[in-house]
Amino acid sequence: MEAYTAILEAAEYVKKSRRTVAFTGAGISVGSGLMTFRGKDGIWKRFDPAEVGSIQAFLENPERFWRFAREIGPELLGSKPNPAHLALTQLQHLGLLGSIITQNIDGLHQAAGSVDVIELHGNIRSVSCVSCQAVTPSSSHPHILDQHSVPRCDACGGLLRPDIVLFGEKLPQEAYTLALRRVRSCTLLLTIGTAMEVSPASDLPLIAKEGGARIININPSPSEADNYADFSLYGPSEEIVPRIVHALNVIL
Ligand code: ZN
Repeated sequence: MEAYTAILEAAEYVKKSRRTVAFTGAGISVGSGLMTFRGKDGIWKRFDPAEVGSIQAFLENPERFWRFAREIGPELLGSKPNPAHLALTQLQHLGLLGSIITQNIDGLHQAAGSVDVIELHGNIRSVSCVSCQAVTPSSSHPHILDQHSVPRCDACGGLLRPDIVLFGEKLPQEAYTLALRRVRSCTLLLTIGTAMEVSPASDLPLIAKEGGARIININPSPSEADNYADFSLYGPSEEIVPRIVHALNVIL
């Protein structure tokens, strides 16, 4: 467990920062029971990303893609925010945190009540048709994960896909541009539960650093992310982030 002095130091950084931004990855949702994609127990140990994770794989074999979606979908849809998500919402309420940039598709920041969430990899709230591009809320397809055939567009019969970024696809331009703008102008970047392995999202901390921002990294164990950080706190984010907020409540 991280010593209180380290937690307090992080809290001091947050207190002094004029513009703080958070950048979160799969690690922040582990406390909600969601598996990470990478790492030793990650989803990519059970499924081959080349077979289910790319846009080419989807187009070649949509049946296989939707079998994978039916496997991981219920867990994603049933998950709840954990104390790390809630602590970030508290920081926003205290006026100590602006945007939350996330690589996650689970929507748990919004479920925790956070605002100004920038989703770099899309989300599972909507699906779109690869033929006519019609976008519809996932909730309007209640049996999408029960049916054993590939879901089809009501309007044109085209293949439906979730609005998440697959390998081989660009990040949503609007979200990425906004994320760049936020990290360029921040004075402190909290990177939480991301090992910075996926470009171009992994470029964000570098850009923040070039702009003169401090970086605090929170991860269960040492990773690539340490190289960017002014300092790192090791432990589960659902433990570390609430402790920082608690320390702030003492020193504010
Ligand atoms: Zn269509």
